Amino acid sequence: MGTTDTIVAVATGMSESGIAVVRLSGPDAVAVANMGFHGADLSSAPTHTVHYGFFSDKERTIDEVLTTVFRAPRSYTKEDTVEISCHGSPLIARQITEALISYGARLAEPGEFTKRAFLNGRIDLTEAESVMELISAKSELARKNSLRQLRGSLYEKVVGLRKRLLHRLAFLEAALDDPEHYELGGFSAELKTELEQISTEIKDLLSTAENGRFLTEGILTVIVGKPNVGKSSLLNLLLGEERAIVTEIAGTTRDTLEEVMQLRGVPLRIMDTAGIRETEDTVEKIGVKRARDAVRDADLALLVIDASVPLSAEDREIASLLSGKQTIVLLNKTDLTPIVTEELLRETLISDEVPILPFSSKEGIGLERLEKTIEKVFFSKNVSMNDEIILTNVRQKEALIEADRSLSLVLQSMKDQMPEDLYAVDLMDAYTSLGQLIGEEVGEDLLNEIFSKFCMGK
Ligand code: GDP
Repeated sequence: MGTTDTIVAVATGMSESGIAVVRLSGPDAVAVANMGFHGADLSSAPTHTVHYGFFSDKERTIDEVLTTVFRAPRSYTKEDTVEISCHGSPLIARQITEALISYGARLAEPGEFTKRAFLNGRIDLTEAESVMELISAKSELARKNSLRQLRGSLYEKVVGLRKRLLHRLAFLEAALDDPEHYELGGFSAELKTELEQISTEIKDLLSTAENGRFLTEGILTVIVGKPNVGKSSLLNLLLGEERAIVTEIAGTTRDTLEEVMQLRGVPLRIMDTAGIRETEDTVEKIGVKRARDAVRDADLALLVIDASVPLSAEDREIASLLSGKQTIVLLNKTDLTPIVTEELLRETLISDEVPILPFSSKEGIGLERLEKTIEKVFFSKNVSMNDEIILTNVRQKEALIEADRSLSLVLQSMKDQMPEDLYAVDLMDAYTSLGQLIGEEVGEDLLNEIFSKFCMGK
């Protein structure tokens, strides 16, 4: 895994922009850049200095550039690194990259700069993965979470757990090797308490993974209710909000339509259904079927009820579709004379744990309470404010599950009063799984797979 060669790639996007950056990293980065750069002699340039000049290939000048020199180890990769900022044309950036290859650099693999940062010990694997998640973050909260991981909070947590395991493991091994000098009496009880504690902490981390899914993929939300209660008006109200970032995904009015919006930093994926009701109309029936399916897959159902007309069998039928589904009831049209009240709904249709919010799509009443309720229902704590670590990564999650499984094997062996040397194997497995999470014990295959998901030039 030695990093003896010098790599190059365009570090910015492939569309026209103000500037574009070509990045070089490796032992010959400065020498290679110097071959095409005219303006100053980079070979004597101190670290973190910027130089104005022109860049040329072997035949002609390509562009006017600014070249930044970072000397090892004070760079992203911990190697000598040079960044050439040129005018923001993908063509110019590519020509400069090709020139640098002709001067002796090699085109970088996707993610190879970050891989080098990892291999050279500047960042751990969770930090490397959070770099990737930060680049692709789709919401404000996801961005904040990646940044928190990038600062190493998950790493610190896992390192702490591993230390505690190693401490027990070392004592156990020592006692088994040298029973005369180490007293194992009382050790089992203490070990049991400690392992149960570690297991609880792992489970707490795992329980954040569901939050992580909502952060990265969004909360799949469906708006249901009989015709004319105000579902479309609600959707328009939500989407019309200035803070909502809207992307239309697919569909027609008869079908389901999905839009993505941000609510307090949390992405909501809202499916609009054509209205759930049985009808002879075949096209409508597809809509009804899809709505039923949508309810089944949804993380959240918003049930709209019209407060200005009496409850009907249709309301009941739709409400019954939602049993066991995370639901928020919007008692809409409260700007009109109410016939249906919250008390009436509680008595006849809606169970106590389901929130009922007075609402008016027309006047925009109740929107803020809706936002707060969604946040409360999906995130037990205020994720945007606290320092909770949220797992967003399937690989990390699997490593934790594996570690916890090994711990429960140890606890089972203890319960069955198996000999101590048997615990050591499973304890070691738990230690190894946690090591894999932070990249201390990973093979080349896994590394390649992780870094290949990166974009070019990162
Ligand atoms: P949908 O069939 O459930 O999608 O209902 P629509 O959104 O098309 O609304 C049906 C009718 O109710 C329209 O005329 C809306 O203007 C009206 N409406 C929707 N929400 C409200 C509300 O909160 N108050 C009042 N007064 N009218 C509303």
